[in-house]
Amino acid sequence: MTPLETESGVRRYGLFIDNEFIPASTETYIDVTNPATGEVWAQVPDASEADVDRAVASARKAFEGDWAGWRAADRAKFLIRFGQAIADNADEIAQLQVDENGKLIREMAGQARLMPEYFNYYAGLAQMPTGNTNPLHLKDIFNYTVREPLGVVAAITPWNSPLLLLVWKLGPALAAGNTVIAKPSEITPVSTLRIAELAAEAGLPPGVFNAITGLGGPGAALTTHPGVDKIAFTGSTATGQAIASAAGKSLKSVSLELGGKSPNIVFDDADLDSAMNGLIAGIFGASGQTCMAGSRILVQDNIYDEVVEELVIRTERIKVGNPQDDTSEMGTIASKAQYDKVLHYIEVAKNEGAKLVAGGSPARVEGFEDGLFIRPTVFANVRNDMRIAQEEVFGPIAAVIPFTDEADAIRIANDTEFGLAAGVWSQNIQRAHRVGAQLKAGTVWINNYRKTGYATPFGGYKQSGVGRENGPNALLEYTEEKSVWVDTGQGVKDPFNPRA
Ligand code: NDP
Repeated sequence: MTPLETESGVRRYGLFIDNEFIPASTETYIDVTNPATGEVWAQVPDASEADVDRAVASARKAFEGDWAGWRAADRAKFLIRFGQAIADNADEIAQLQVDENGKLIREMAGQARLMPEYFNYYAGLAQMPTGNTNPLHLKDIFNYTVREPLGVVAAITPWNSPLLLLVWKLGPALAAGNTVIAKPSEITPVSTLRIAELAAEAGLPPGVFNAITGLGGPGAALTTHPGVDKIAFTGSTATGQAIASAAGKSLKSVSLELGGKSPNIVFDDADLDSAMNGLIAGIFGASGQTCMAGSRILVQDNIYDEVVEELVIRTERIKVGNPQDDTSEMGTIASKAQYDKVLHYIEVAKNEGAKLVAGGSPARVEGFEDGLFIRPTVFANVRNDMRIAQEEVFGPIAAVIPFTDEADAIRIANDTEFGLAAGVWSQNIQRAHRVGAQLKAGTVWINNYRKTGYATPFGGYKQSGVGRENGPNALLEYTEEKSVWVDTGQGVKDPFNPRA
């Protein structure tokens, strides 16, 4: 990707509108910092309202113009080409994200390899019929329903998995025939600009996929813009609430994938070795910066001490290090603000009386003295009413809570404002399903944790969101349904004199 200019090694990128990089209408730029080194390596425009208007006008024109003429089969072929372009550039895409958010290259490379599969899946679904013929109570009327694209979709995305979470929106939105404006987090904007460019190279007409960058202003401007038909958002619950109320004023459709405080529940009949791996992956994968993090570890009281002891041993073994190094097991926290937030919650937990048993401080990584590394941290003796058990930290902090029996586990698990995900570890198949059925969460993993895929829905109950991403129904979330009535009789009779 060619920057508009490079000054002292810092690459300055433009907004991507109408298949071109263009400078913003303001001279204000946002620094993009590598959280492992502390170096500013790129700058992106802080787009103004005029830039947002321009992106929306372009997306609207494309929706009503060239793109409307593409058949579902054409859109499907494009999605497959787009996926191939991502596969061909997977190393670069993974690297850009590591430079933006400090996650492990292993994880980002894995995600980059997976993204084409999402496009392949929605390419298939693009050609599946989504309408019905409907038997009615009336004679001589034939009724059918068709699904039509909504129009212009704004995809507002976070920094933790910048591209995968965008792909979750792009696949179904484009398959259904919408145009998309992506607004990435200001922490991770460059990777989104790059895949917008790849979409253009794969043959997407100008305006079908625009990407604008900015801090605060452009995201909010999209939520109230009359030219935007839907907001698809992933991020914090507080921002999701702000978006839903702003979008509500013009009755835009919204889908919100928000925060979590997910319980990972271990019964005394679990395969403990497997459960330990699931607990560790659940909270320390991605340095705990995932909406689905298993941040509340619920352990049956008769195995509590044993599990905590083993958790400490395995936590202390985790290698925090250079995200580029394949042997590192945890990278950085993505931004200074998030780093401060995680350290703050460590103090909150200590002050509340939780017992710090592992980690609890920044990690020093040789050669990366300015890096935002935090040691994986475990608190034992946590009560579910403590802030550390109720508030989303979005960092590598496990809160371990004891429970007595099934009913107690279910009560504690559901005693949260969130409802994104939950894990159940038990070798008793009846128990695992019984408990799973009573958990108020959009995803339940039984004897595994932190898995997602294109073919099954993901989303939250309660304050964890609205709507579902992935799976066949995600396509429908990017459509309007139209009901069509056709007279198949002898014509319409005079309504005031029906016998005539
Ligand atoms: P936010 O939820 O505030 O931001 C996510 C996205 O929303 C960004 O693109 C942001 O861009 C945009 N945004 C912010 N405010 C508005 C608004 N009023 N209207 C429209 N768009 C808006 O996350 P943060 O990055 O500030 O992180 C804060 C916390 O959010 C984390 O500590 C974590 O707890 C949680 N989080 C949850 C995620 C999840 O996957 N569920 C992902 C990331 C964070 P901009 O700020 O540039 O406007």
